[in-house]
Amino acid sequence: MSAVPGGPLVVGLDLGGTKLLGVALDPGHQGSEAVVEDKVATPSGTTEVLDALGDLAEDLRRRAREATGQDVRAVGLGAPGLVDRAGTFRYGPNLPGVVGVPLAAELGERLGLPVVVDNDATCAAWGEHERGAARGRNHSLVVTLGTGIGGGMTVKGEPLRGAYGFAGEPGHMVVDPNGPECPCGRRGCWERYASGTGMGWLAREAVRLGTAPASGGFVELAGGSVEAVRGEHVVAAARAGDAAALAVLKTFGDWLGLGLANLVNILDSEIVVVGGGVSEEADLFLDHARQRLRELALGHERRPRVPLVAARLGERAGAVGAALLAALRT
Ligand SMILES: [Zn+2]
Repeated sequence: MSAVPGGPLVVGLDLGGTKLLGVALDPGHQGSEAVVEDKVATPSGTTEVLDALGDLAEDLRRRAREATGQDVRAVGLGAPGLVDRAGTFRYGPNLPGVVGVPLAAELGERLGLPVVVDNDATCAAWGEHERGAARGRNHSLVVTLGTGIGGGMTVKGEPLRGAYGFAGEPGHMVVDPNGPECPCGRRGCWERYASGTGMGWLAREAVRLGTAPASGGFVELAGGSVEAVRGEHVVAAARAGDAAALAVLKTFGDWLGLGLANLVNILDSEIVVVGGGVSEEADLFLDHARQRLRELALGHERRPRVPLVAARLGERAGAVGAALLAALRT
């Protein structure tokens, strides 16, 4: 089949600190299924990252053409940090060395296609809004729980970007100015408590405070070292019925619900979606978060209950959302 120039397909790329995931899809189809998709490791260094992004987009474009006979008309990219409205990556703690890079312009020139760049969580939120758990909702809040906490909001059915494109960094909302240090340079950011990293910290803190035992349970799963305890150990111990781990997950759910209530009090969202890698364990903490969100929403007895649900698109949310943002903006 010969390709149709300027065809209907779009490519979406999700640039993470460790992996780069890409899809090519037809935005006219209502599902989230990709025509083709692929995943590669994220290299370090600006040139290397640009090469990897360009190569993946070219490869997806070629394979999508072969599969459908249709060409790609635009590329969307989600990047983990502050992306301005011109598509320049300003700052991101998880991509050291990649600062002030005009990603949209550089990639656009290389590919000969329009390229739209936005924050990765904003892209994931748009994916969930268009094809996932927030579909049909005009005012939605999506948070992604991983190493940190990302966020994206939809207001009146449109992605909220703010004055400069930097809206939606709830992970660095300070919830305790005397709390643990954050890589951003401040203390007590929400993501120190309610991310995957935060789950490990809460467990280590429980041992230090004497509310969790210093041996057995998640400490044993971490090789007997309290300092080695991570979120995954807490989850594994909780799955085995360990009481201390289940208590840590309740505390985790409480912190998650507190931050979500702060955001709902500002945004008046009609649904809250929790995505990211940690959301795969949502059954262990989402009920606690739901109750906390309910209690802390202002005037909770006199306002509609805000549903709190797990995301549906899994690890592809960011790439699918980036592709659909490219379709929207080009
Ligand atoms: Zn911070």
